[in-house]
Amino acid sequence: MGSRPATRIFNFSAGPAVLPEEVLAQAAAEMLDWHGSGMSVMEMSHRGKEFIAIAEAAEKDFRELLNVPENYKVLFLQGGATLQFGMVPMNLLGGKNSADYIYTGEWSKKAIKEANRFCEINIAASSEGKNFTFAPEQSTWQLDPKSAYVHYTSNETIGGVEFHWIPDTGKVPLVADASSHILSRPLDVSKFGLIYAGAQKNIGPAGLTLVIVREDLLGRAVPHTPSMLDYKVHAESGSMSNTPATYAWYIAGLVFQWLKAQGGLAEMEKKNIAKAKLLYDFLDASAFFKNPVRKSDRSRMNIPFTLADSKLDGEFLKGAEARGMVQLKGHRAVGGMRASIYNAMPVDGVRRLVEYMKEFEAKRG
Ligand SMILES: *Cc1c(COP(=O)(O)O)cnc(C)c1O
Repeated sequence: MGSRPATRIFNFSAGPAVLPEEVLAQAAAEMLDWHGSGMSVMEMSHRGKEFIAIAEAAEKDFRELLNVPENYKVLFLQGGATLQFGMVPMNLLGGKNSADYIYTGEWSKKAIKEANRFCEINIAASSEGKNFTFAPEQSTWQLDPKSAYVHYTSNETIGGVEFHWIPDTGKVPLVADASSHILSRPLDVSKFGLIYAGAQKNIGPAGLTLVIVREDLLGRAVPHTPSMLDYKVHAESGSMSNTPATYAWYIAGLVFQWLKAQGGLAEMEKKNIAKAKLLYDFLDASAFFKNPVRKSDRSRMNIPFTLADSKLDGEFLKGAEARGMVQLKGHRAVGGMRASIYNAMPVDGVRRLVEYMKEFEAKRG
């Protein structure tokens, strides 16, 4: 890693989130003249040969990183993960009238609410009774064989709960909202019918949403589905049925190159395990700070924690900011703090946070 500009802070935001400095530096260097084209990527026609090359390279690198099988399409869409909450039922119900959902937190709640506009929802498992602090074991799931698909949120960004295993739903397609941990670890895509992720957590800038969809699930959209909401339309046009989010797509492509240069996802996973361990080990040893999530289900990407006395939250945040660490305030649904430590968060950022927490506990604990 090159030298950090002195003004760069450590940004623990859940999203839009930190991006690799090398990527930002490269984008800056290419801003006025991309590879001798005499223009910025932002100014390019999405149908011109320059942008087509950028788009194809990004897809190729993404497929390589996640080892996406041939019979899956990768779509570069807009509308955020939130639009997928509706697009999934519109496209996957295929004449059926119900879907299974695993209810594990704020994001699955939103996915359920939106899908419920299109079909009946069977809550096959829920962690609501324990305040969304764990990932329900598959043995407790009550799947309905008549359901069109099974949806779960593989990493709950707000609660900090991550599934470290892939559910087995047999012939019923498995759908994952992987927005906040995609590319943080290798993933067996062949176990899924569809995976979606908003880009602004672990992929790139806001405005881009990635969808990985198995080809046999295309072409089943409900009647009157707007063409822009039909996966098949996007799949057949290479995600260029209309103007895509070209600049976000380009930056995502730079992030994919950066990930490959880091050694790929197996290497990223090692780094992410080590970074998360730094913080969890400290939290578990502390008498003042606490993380509520069951150990086996803790997220490597989003780590919520509380102070023993919430009246000190403001002072904690102010002190963090004075030390160059921002966006640590937890989501209002959970309170306390949250450190999001995505791929692009350097280990030094986590070290500095732990140092500060130690210091704070010694003074205020
Ligand atoms: C951020 C997030 C969303 C919402 O993403 P948008 O791009 O804002 O629509 C959905 N699901 C999860 C798990 C998220 O982290």
